[in-house]
Amino acid sequence: MSDNSPRGEFPGRFLSPEYTAYVKAWEEKIASFIQFEPALGEASLREARAGEPSSEASAASSIKEDRDHAAALIKGLPFAVKDNIAVRGFSLSCGSRLLEGLASPYTATAVQRLERSGCQVVGKTNLDEFGMGSSTDNSGIQKTNNPWDTSRVSGGSSGGSAAAVAAGLVPFALGSDTGGSVRQPASFCGVVGLKPGYGAVSRYGLVAYASSLEGIGILADSVARARAVFALMRGGDPLDQTSLDAPPESPRLYGEKKESRVIGVLSAQAIARALAAAADEAGASGDKALAIAAQAASLEPPVERAFALARERLTALGHTLKDIEIPGLKYGVPAYYTIAAAEASANLARFDGIRYGRRPPWAENPDDLIDKTRDTGFGSEVKLRILLGTFVLRSGFQDRYYLRAQRIRSGIRKEFESFLGSAAGKGPFDAILMPVFPTRAFGRGEAGLSPFAQKAADLYTCCANLAGLPALSFPANNEEGLPVGVQLLGRAFSEGTLLDIAEGYEAAHPFARPEGYKAFWP
Ligand code: GLN
Repeated sequence: MSDNSPRGEFPGRFLSPEYTAYVKAWEEKIASFIQFEPALGEASLREARAGEPSSEASAASSIKEDRDHAAALIKGLPFAVKDNIAVRGFSLSCGSRLLEGLASPYTATAVQRLERSGCQVVGKTNLDEFGMGSSTDNSGIQKTNNPWDTSRVSGGSSGGSAAAVAAGLVPFALGSDTGGSVRQPASFCGVVGLKPGYGAVSRYGLVAYASSLEGIGILADSVARARAVFALMRGGDPLDQTSLDAPPESPRLYGEKKESRVIGVLSAQAIARALAAAADEAGASGDKALAIAAQAASLEPPVERAFALARERLTALGHTLKDIEIPGLKYGVPAYYTIAAAEASANLARFDGIRYGRRPPWAENPDDLIDKTRDTGFGSEVKLRILLGTFVLRSGFQDRYYLRAQRIRSGIRKEFESFLGSAAGKGPFDAILMPVFPTRAFGRGEAGLSPFAQKAADLYTCCANLAGLPALSFPANNEEGLPVGVQLLGRAFSEGTLLDIAEGYEAAHPFARPEGYKAFWP
């Protein structure tokens, strides 16, 4: 990219004293940033633009055209990055006390590609420790409040990024989505959340939690912005062997838009039926936990209303909506947590105070050093998942848990493929419309959700990760003062189609902003 794009506008235009004061005023209320340091981002941007890219995105002509188009739309904009994605010189705490104060020695590929297009990192955002949670309250560093109602959570685990975008502190931010961590906070905060298909964006520089499920995603103030960011970040990267380019025949990001799509709908009734079946099974087996889980996943009335409205509006926009059922969904949460915990227990083994992590001041011997590091450094949710992960992987038991979860995972993928098709060929539907989460942003304490209920409620988001499919959450409506999102899932590499549908919706029903919101960018 040429060097005469308008970086000269930095820091004058967007990083003015007025902007800094605006950020400060909001931050006192929401605490979305762990670190806000635009000057550091300017240095990183200059370095990225001056140096050789550590990896270059592919040069297939259609992808390159899309990228050039996107760069013209968003160059010069500031953005925020979840604090589990590396940006050289910035914090990389992962929301953990164990890594607090760590400065990253390198920059993630996705971030570097944005910087090379002239976008500047202004800071690192809060998250549930290592991405484990649905509220950002599992952060070992701070709690982030929802800009719509500061007594409520911003969602999680990318709650800092979602809150920063919702309050207008940045036009877009990066997050990571392992089981819903981009889409759920997007829904809670009234912004757009894109989880690209597995491998579409390089994971190089994303601190691993559950490698086979997760990816870097986007939180943005509009669908057009999410599209541009995705166009710049995507594509194979030699530094991540699971990343790959979109095949040339996949939907273009900037091409002609098809007005009318066939959308499968997982209706509230279908959900209720699946949950009732699960509760029956639970009743027959006397398993109380399963019954509570089914209850926790049922939609609260405002969410059901917003979902029905989204369906009506999409029909009015000319799409054909047809009910579908996805029976395998009811096994999604147990499969997701089995696989995620197993992978987490392996991925987090490096945080031992020797290779990484803050050491205790004193230890008897190396084992004691590791024990003390983890005991004081990790929060209780992280400890729980490491224990669960080692439990499901212990020798002689893999068949019973881990391999069974993998079979469920294949089954869910096949169910989705029967509707959407796969890379090999299209299915009868272009997309599937689903709720994102059964509740709106919840409160804390009495008004909150138990850790168990939060996990059960991941039902609607975790299936896209199990199947590796792209999914896009966007605001459907505001219900009683709080935003409610819905999500669209598509076949591999169909992000363009999902973005087209959501952009049409946004044009007809512009997204609301919280009180006190001010936009500093076009
Ligand atoms: N709530 C899910 C979990 O706690 C999602 C996390 C994520 O996507 N990082 O695992």
